[in-house]
Amino acid sequence: MSLKQPPILKVDNLKMHFPVKEGILLRANKFNKAVDGISFEIQPGETLGLVGESGCGKSTLGRCIARLYEPTSGSIEFEGTDITKLKGKALMPYRQNIQMIFQDPMESLNSRHTVGDILEEPYIVQKIGDRASRAKRVRELLDIVGLPARSMTRYPFEFSGGQRQRIGIARSIALNPKLVVCDEPVSALDVSIQSQILNLLVDLQKEFNLAYLFIAHDLAVVKHISDRIAIMYLGNIVEESTGESIYHEPRHPYTKSLISAIPVPDPHLRVKREIITGDVPSPINPPTGCRFHPRCPRVMERCKIEAPLLRTIADHQVCCHLDDL
Ligand code: SF4
Repeated sequence: MSLKQPPILKVDNLKMHFPVKEGILLRANKFNKAVDGISFEIQPGETLGLVGESGCGKSTLGRCIARLYEPTSGSIEFEGTDITKLKGKALMPYRQNIQMIFQDPMESLNSRHTVGDILEEPYIVQKIGDRASRAKRVRELLDIVGLPARSMTRYPFEFSGGQRQRIGIARSIALNPKLVVCDEPVSALDVSIQSQILNLLVDLQKEFNLAYLFIAHDLAVVKHISDRIAIMYLGNIVEESTGESIYHEPRHPYTKSLISAIPVPDPHLRVKREIITGDVPSPINPPTGCRFHPRCPRVMERCKIEAPLLRTIADHQVCCHLDDL
């Protein structure tokens, strides 16, 4: 895969601020700045892993990309077209090309419909094929994700968590998308099932040249599947690089703490842990300067006043004032 192709997705200074309504009159005087000025690109067939603690805004970012939310400002370009403010019919072709896999597939699977109905629905909505050709395609989809054709007549609740995620994946690829936003797709599954689902996603990517935005809180899971990894903290990306480089040469103090927290399978290996304490601050009232400063083990006076900009250091993009990164 060449990294010199035009990006399939280009996100520029994206913001998603939710109004927080308070008081008897429910006036919105405050905003939850869940996504606050994020930029990145994804190439065709590439996987960008997006990692951060819960509450950092990564799922909100995924939902903006899939256009389940209309962003507050900034732009989302898909294959060179700005889709940020598109609505209704104008958005339909992009809904076909950008699909989403959810952590809990029950969120996207209608429990009162059979699996056959659920997988046929995207074709009905997009007015593709007749009943017989759609049924044939549903059987093909089930085969692609490793489920028997008899699954068509069963309901989502009759399946295990891993099987339900396979149904969710089948639905996400039904319309031959080019980009899939995977929002914590294996977080709720047993470890043994996680690797099966990750391997399925890798196989589908190779077969259909899919690009993934792969969201997770677990760096070990993201490393397995990602070409590049972006680390998110409180609405911003604080570091981005290749999977190998993030894992072996983290630069940002927050990334270092995430990496050092990954369990090492060898009990004889001594690893220096860089523990950070406290919770992620509220995105309604984020800290001044560097948003990580209240938790950073290397905080300086400057960090409390001045927000660092993303800068290039070797093959990393890092958002930090430190000189010795
Ligand atoms: Fe820590 Fe300062 Fe760097 Fe922020 S800018 S990560 S507070 S050293």
